[in-house]
Amino acid sequence: MIDEKYISDIVENVIKSIKPNIPATHQKGVFPTMTEALEAVSKAYVEFKKYSVAQREKMIQKIREYTLAEAAVMAEMGVEETGMGRVSDKIIKHQLVANKTPGTEDLKPAVMTGDAGMTLVEMAPFGVIGSITPSTNPSETVICNSMGMIAGGNAVVFNPHPNAKRVANYAVDLVNRAILEAGGPENLVVSVYNPTMETSNEMVTSPIVRMLVATGGPGVVKMLLSSGKKAIGAGAGNPPVIVDDTADIEKAGKDIVAGASFDNNLPCIAEKECFVIDSVADRLIKSMTENGAYLLRGADVDRLKDLALNNKDGKYSIKKEWVGKDARLFLEKLGINADPRLIICEVPKDHPFVSVEMMMPILGIVRVKDIDEAIELAVKAEHGNRHSAHIHSKNVDNLTRFAKAVETTIFVKNAPSYAGIGAGGEGYTTFTIAGPTGEGLTAAHSFTRQRRCVLVDGLHIV
Ligand code: NAD
Repeated sequence: MIDEKYISDIVENVIKSIKPNIPATHQKGVFPTMTEALEAVSKAYVEFKKYSVAQREKMIQKIREYTLAEAAVMAEMGVEETGMGRVSDKIIKHQLVANKTPGTEDLKPAVMTGDAGMTLVEMAPFGVIGSITPSTNPSETVICNSMGMIAGGNAVVFNPHPNAKRVANYAVDLVNRAILEAGGPENLVVSVYNPTMETSNEMVTSPIVRMLVATGGPGVVKMLLSSGKKAIGAGAGNPPVIVDDTADIEKAGKDIVAGASFDNNLPCIAEKECFVIDSVADRLIKSMTENGAYLLRGADVDRLKDLALNNKDGKYSIKKEWVGKDARLFLEKLGINADPRLIICEVPKDHPFVSVEMMMPILGIVRVKDIDEAIELAVKAEHGNRHSAHIHSKNVDNLTRFAKAVETTIFVKNAPSYAGIGAGGEGYTTFTIAGPTGEGLTAAHSFTRQRRCVLVDGLHIV
């Protein structure tokens, strides 16, 4: 007799094991060389100029649909390829990109009228944009950049992070499939099978590329800003979170665990160190442990430091193999059997868990005597990146003082950090947050040139 449950389990397992594995040579928009990619995207841009804004919008809608449909595929592929992050959180990131990245509605022309007639300012495309993407949000950044850049009327060439090329190129293929279904041109978004420093250099120096966008650490942003071209730089952060004695402490603990553990702390906006006023520190830590955090103590904190960080003459740096790993794996190495979302530990103010951008589910907590000390240390820990900072407080003066002192692009009050990119907070999303060059949360308008059109003595109708 056939055991139906047995058969259905086998079928389910087989289906689960079949991962979409589109051979590189069949991916739309992905080329063997950067030279070929540049030629193709250049042709596509000439074609794309004939399309209306409504047609652009149709393509963006299709990209939204495809991204939602394939969010789980990309989430799994991203974790598998990079060995970083959490599948469930990466699904949410793709959904966020699909649902909250602005389209053409973001392009708002300006009009000035008066006795001398009418002047119009419109947002024009740059042309072909070159974009460098990180390993931490690989497919998310490709899709988010594509949507914004296409909405602005541009074509895009990507040089994805080599460690995430498979999932990034899957996203390039997805965007092209969506564009073609919406009636758009082929190769509007391109990439190379094997991105390297050489392909990056070719892209950056190519006369075909009119604008550059870098999302990543300090090295790549610096390189792009010295290219001599219009460039948007979205660089590193090390976001502090402050908790003062007026905060809803239980909620603060829960929110900080949610934000700091999201995708294993890979997002550049995620809480990376915490400063808490001494009088409420015990309650905060208790709330954190009740909401998914594991409190590490004593010598284990030092052992964790040695496990996660290199120490060269007192200068600490991350061990790349530990970036974005599950908290459970760190604990396992310490001989602790637990599966929390986040590891927390109390540390002194000059500890590397405070100063280093770790991108691991580890949060150093520093007790401070008052808000003055909290702000001073938090500003220092942010290293002048002016990227993101967060606070839990009901004191308007404290909220304002910290915001003024830290000068970050994103400042979230009384919520998990991801509220700053539209997840549970108002506002649109982006995965390219341009602090160094000042565009802030990039969207279609960031990828356009303003053009003024003046008509003297006409179309002024009052
Ligand atoms: P990374 O800096 O290692 O790599 C980014 C990309 O730049 C990769 O494609 C890499 O190959 C390339 N690259 C690096 N140096 C280069 C150089 N000198 N010339 C040409 N290309 C170069 O970044 P990562 O590890 O993938 O991402 C993590 C970093 O990115 C963190 O510091 C994080 O804060 C930051 N980040 C910032 C944002 C933002 O929006 N501001 C978003 C995501 C990540």
